[in-house]
Amino acid sequence: AKKAKGWEKQADRKVERAAVLGAGIMGGGIAYQSAYKGVPIRMKDINQEGLDLGLSEAGKLLSKRVNRGRMTPEKMAEVLNSIDPVLSYEGFDDVDIVVEAVVENAKVKHSVLAEVEQKVTDDTVLTSNTSTISITSLAEALKRPENFCGMHFFNPVHAMPLVEVIRGDKTSDTAIARTVAFARQMGKKPVVVRDCPGFLVNRVLFPYFDGFSKLVRDGADFQAVDKVMQRWGWPMGPAYLMDVVGIDTGVHAAGVMAEGFPDRMQLDFKTATEVMYENNRYGQKNGKGFYDHG
Ligand code: NAD
Repeated sequence: AKKAKGWEKQADRKVERAAVLGAGIMGGGIAYQSAYKGVPIRMKDINQEGLDLGLSEAGKLLSKRVNRGRMTPEKMAEVLNSIDPVLSYEGFDDVDIVVEAVVENAKVKHSVLAEVEQKVTDDTVLTSNTSTISITSLAEALKRPENFCGMHFFNPVHAMPLVEVIRGDKTSDTAIARTVAFARQMGKKPVVVRDCPGFLVNRVLFPYFDGFSKLVRDGADFQAVDKVMQRWGWPMGPAYLMDVVGIDTGVHAAGVMAEGFPDRMQLDFKTATEVMYENNRYGQKNGKGFYDHG
C-alpha cells in the first residue's frame, strides 16, 4: 500500500470559518465557493468598490442557479449572508484559515501577510493564492512560517476543480492538512506540490504564453492563433485566456517567472501582452484587453 504522507496522518483539520484578503476576480470567487459550500467567510479589501464587485459577482452566480431552479431564493440569501464583507481586520481572531488573494506583487503580499499575522490566533493557517511567487520567499515576512503554505485556485474558482497546495521550506504538516481539508470542503481536488516560481501548472502554462508571444512577434495575428487553438480543442486560445486572467496579473506573473528562470523565461522583446498593459487594457476586468468585452 502507498505510504501515508505526514500531513495525511493528521487529525481532521476541518475549517469552520475562513477569511480571504482581496475581493477581486479570485478573492470574490473564493468567497463565493466557500460560502456556497457552507463555510462562512470574511472577505476583506482595501476599498468599498472592490468589496461591491466581489459581492456582485457572487450574486450573479447565485442568481443563475436560482433562475435555473437549482437553488431556492432563501438558500441564495443564506449563502450571501455567510460572506461578510469588511474593510478592516475585525473578526479575524476567530478564523481557522486565511487565503491572501491581493495583487501579484511580492512586496504588497509581504506587507499584507505580516499585517494579517498580527490579527489572527497563533494556530490560524495563512495561505497565499499567488500564481507564481515562491511560498518560501513569501514566508520570510512571517513570524510563524510553519503556519503558512500556498493555496492556489484557478479561474473561474467555482468551475475549476484543481487547487495546488504548495509546501514551503518551513510549512508544517498541520498547515498542509488544514489547507487540503478546506479545499475538499470547497468541493475541490487539491494536489500538494513542491515550491518554486510557478509551482506546477504555471511552470507548464507560462512557457505556452511565451510561445504565443513569440508567434505574435513573428507576425501572427492573435485572433487567428486563438481560433486555431480552439479548433484544436482548447476552450479558448492564449490571448482570450490572458483577458480572462487579467493582463496586469499576467504581466506581473510573467515577470516573476522570468526572474525565477532567467535562462529559459526571459524574453528579449516587448510582448503584445506588455503593450496591452501599457495601454491600460487589463482584459475582462476593465472591459478591454486583446478583445473588447463591452
Ligand atoms: P484582482 O486585480 O482582480 O484583485 C485584487 C484585489 O486585491 C483588488 O480588489 C484590490 O483592491 C485588492 N487589494 C489590493 N491590496 C490589498 C490589501 N492590502 N488588502 C486587501 N485587498 C487588497 O486580482 P486577482 O486576479 O483576483 O488576483 C489575486 C491573486 O490571485 C494574485 O496573486 C494572482 O496572481 C492570483 N491568481 C490569479 C488568477 C487569475 O486568473 N486572475 C488565477 C490564480 C491566482
